[in-house]
Amino acid sequence: MALENPFAGHELLSPTLSGETAAQLLHDRYARSGPMKPLGSHQDQNFLVDAPDGRFVLKISNPGFTRVGLEAQNAAMLHLASNSIDFRAPIPVPDVDGQLIGQTDDQGRTFDVRLVTFIDGNPLSDFDYLAPVVLQAHGSLAARAARALTDFNHPGLDRVLQWDCRHASDVVAALVGHVQDVALRDEVVRLTGQAQSELDKLSGELRMGVIHADVTDVNVVATVDSSGRPIPDGLIDFGDMLRTWIVSDVAVAAVSLTAHDFDRPLEITAEIVRGFHREYPLTDPEIDALWPLVVARAAACCVSSEQQAMLEPDNYYAEESRDSDWHIWASLRSISWKAATAALHEATAAQPSVGATTASASSQPSRQSFIDQTVSADPPVLDLSVQSDSLTPGSWQTAGELRRAIAGLLDSGHGFGRFNEGRLNPAGVSAVTTGAEIFAPAGTTINAPVDVHVVSVDADDDAMVLGAFDQWLRVSGLRATAAAGTQVQAGQPLGALMSSPSSSSLPDHLLVQVVSDPDECPPRVCDRASGWLPVVRDPSSFIGFQVAAPSPDAARLLDRRDSVLATTQEHYYVQPPRIERGWRHHLFDTDGRRYVDMVNNVAILGHSHPAVEQAVGRQLRLLNTNSRFHYEAMVAFSERLVDLLPESLDTVFLVSTGSEANEVALRLVRAATGAKDLVAVRSAYHGWTTATDEVSTSIADNPGAAADRPEWIHTVESPHTYRGRFRGADAGDRYADEAKQQLKDLQAKGRAIAGFIAEPVYGNAGGVLLPHGYLQQVYQAVRDVGGLCIADEVQVGYGRLGEYFWGFEQQGVIPDVVTMAKCTGNGVPVGAVVTTSAIAAAMEEQGSFFSSMGGSPVGAVAALAVLDTLETEQLQANARDVGSHLKKRLLELTDKHPLVGTVHGMGLYLGVELVRDRETLEPAADEALAICERLLDLGIIVQPTSDHMNVLKVKPPLCLDLASADQFVDALDRVLTAGW
Ligand code: PMP
Repeated sequence: MALENPFAGHELLSPTLSGETAAQLLHDRYARSGPMKPLGSHQDQNFLVDAPDGRFVLKISNPGFTRVGLEAQNAAMLHLASNSIDFRAPIPVPDVDGQLIGQTDDQGRTFDVRLVTFIDGNPLSDFDYLAPVVLQAHGSLAARAARALTDFNHPGLDRVLQWDCRHASDVVAALVGHVQDVALRDEVVRLTGQAQSELDKLSGELRMGVIHADVTDVNVVATVDSSGRPIPDGLIDFGDMLRTWIVSDVAVAAVSLTAHDFDRPLEITAEIVRGFHREYPLTDPEIDALWPLVVARAAACCVSSEQQAMLEPDNYYAEESRDSDWHIWASLRSISWKAATAALHEATAAQPSVGATTASASSQPSRQSFIDQTVSADPPVLDLSVQSDSLTPGSWQTAGELRRAIAGLLDSGHGFGRFNEGRLNPAGVSAVTTGAEIFAPAGTTINAPVDVHVVSVDADDDAMVLGAFDQWLRVSGLRATAAAGTQVQAGQPLGALMSSPSSSSLPDHLLVQVVSDPDECPPRVCDRASGWLPVVRDPSSFIGFQVAAPSPDAARLLDRRDSVLATTQEHYYVQPPRIERGWRHHLFDTDGRRYVDMVNNVAILGHSHPAVEQAVGRQLRLLNTNSRFHYEAMVAFSERLVDLLPESLDTVFLVSTGSEANEVALRLVRAATGAKDLVAVRSAYHGWTTATDEVSTSIADNPGAAADRPEWIHTVESPHTYRGRFRGADAGDRYADEAKQQLKDLQAKGRAIAGFIAEPVYGNAGGVLLPHGYLQQVYQAVRDVGGLCIADEVQVGYGRLGEYFWGFEQQGVIPDVVTMAKCTGNGVPVGAVVTTSAIAAAMEEQGSFFSSMGGSPVGAVAALAVLDTLETEQLQANARDVGSHLKKRLLELTDKHPLVGTVHGMGLYLGVELVRDRETLEPAADEALAICERLLDLGIIVQPTSDHMNVLKVKPPLCLDLASADQFVDALDRVLTAGW
């Protein structure tokens, strides 16, 4: 048997050539010289060589490896080079004698030596966080390598190698003695044995092939894409290549990449499987074998690195990899194999198979019920989902509140909780139920619903497992009276319901789960990625009626959306979560996951604010007409608005949206001046309607604006103090001077200016404050040529700036027309235009003004509720305080992360500008988008804006608290540190 066989007790000591010896070797054998740097290796010794004709790796092989094995590696690399592979791999370089393998002696030992070309880029091990696309690309690369090697053959491939997953349990048996911790050692032996027996069952069906067999993060080289993500596209170190089970490489990759996020081994494996499967479809037995292979591989890595660390106590690399291997082990060992396997099958399936009902269960309805039907004839099936209307906002913030709220929904203490339901929960985590709950008072007798066999009773967990038909029912929350091994007939008692612990978010209940294996012990609620949902079954038939919740399939809904909505009606995120609930500055997806909403400025008070909900609900019950009728709310709201504005602005038009408000404003200034020409700030956005679109030249919203702008629209330069031409203290004057000159030129050309429209804070650029004195000077210049000034307060007004209620106050100006919408109704469409009575009167010549929804009773009461709540909850002050804290913390990121160029804005209207270069200010747009995707993963909703789409727009509901502000900054810091 070859020396590579570890079971013979050989200990693989790495070669330890000195730098000088290696340089001499390079000179003598390969006629090259240049700077050399040692590269880490588990068992070989490698040097990176910077030679005049390129970069190479000098590889001094461990004497434990056979010559034929090295020949096989070389042949494989040449095979790949001669096949048109779409990834990069090294090529062996002949020595001065034309040989691909040479020899050298060092300290009395002889080593085989090779030189191969160096693959530029960074190994994936250099990157901390690996995004799903990266993991998939890794899987795909492994698959493409396996595919490219299918027609490769060499006598050195059939060998016994320590790293062959087929031999993992033998490796463990041989080396586990190095593990000092007895309990850990026993666990490794036990789980490896379990893996081996699973693999023995499947081995006949696992396809054999030549694979790289070491597709770890150190051997996969990546090229960083435009978003800053490392995309694996190079494969190095063919030292472990051999013929074995093809699927092994997925396990090798999975174990290695788990070190990048110890909390998510299964999700990582699933992504790798997705990538592999797309290129090289895996068979069902291969997927069945995968998790046992992952466990076996992880065990083999642990015992091997224990051995290596013992052999080389001074080898830092060996010690580090040992620690990492045990960390990987710890992250894998408690995952249910059944669930893991189900999750991996899901990763390759077109559709999720959640909540299946088995034929036998559905065809054998229960004859009795778990609880005595006479207690309550028709106990309610509760909706405790994210979309539950019974759980009022705020009633689920703590476990105690939720428990009381659910108890309040019960009918004489009885009711049912649904299976496969994403639950609102105080922790804000994905919480999909794996069974159904039967709520009943503690002490209630629990009966067998059908004839059952008591398989086991677990007193610690207050649970029992019952066999019925070909299923197993796991019932928890009872003190069992029936003993294990007994038969209990339908209707006969199993035990008595216990009270749920005081920390529980549920009132007393029996949990009923249907599992396909008596040893399975699914958690009550799970994350979809855990794989539990395909494992458990719908318990409806045992309960006696439908207790499965409708499935909220976000992906299917997206398909429906795509097929019915215009593509330009775009959505956030590549795979958007299905968001169906909001509360304050939080949003919830249908699985119960909570996100901090940093982007929704419309919900200025926070989502689902009870003041708005109650005002609107009441008004809808009473009346909803339109402004042609006579009712109070419209008047009261208009009076309130006028009171909030400078005295001259005393006349109100009510509309529904921002575009509509600006449309009215543009008509007003034209009507009042009799002129047609309009002036706007370049790259701004004012709406989508025809006239507002004409004055909007932001690229994302109106890409053709610069080219097809009508002759009566003129734009002045964006007064951008970060990217614009003028950035110093005098920027306001200089931009204003230019604008003044432009206005004069227009006048000289005989163009009559009706008005000028601008946001008082430059919104589309990402909340950039206008330079000092800018609007004062431009307003004056506009008025000098006979025009009127419109302040678009659609985004910035209403207290968002903290220091100021209106944006124009920050610039010290009084506009002639002010427009507002979006937040005005906290989501109920209502907007307004406020102007002077003289300007308003000019519209009279154009007939009457009527907007069907504008100022409707419902809109008006919502708008009043918003103004009231802004006051009672002191949200402007909160915007000031939390906003200044947030800006300070975000600015600190500029010291730490070169990508963060600056932070714009004030109050809760901020923009985090991401740049690739602080000098050139090259926008980091792709990075911004990718960072937003990663932040979603971390529970933060934020999106890019600006013409370059490189500014994270921060404009949350004004109720944002310090904790959530910190959560956002911490998450952003983490992403910028660990990658995205
Ligand atoms: N003006 C500004 C400054 C805006 O940001 C927007 C919307 N993004 C609008 C006007 C248009 O508002 P709406 O979408 O309500 O028509």
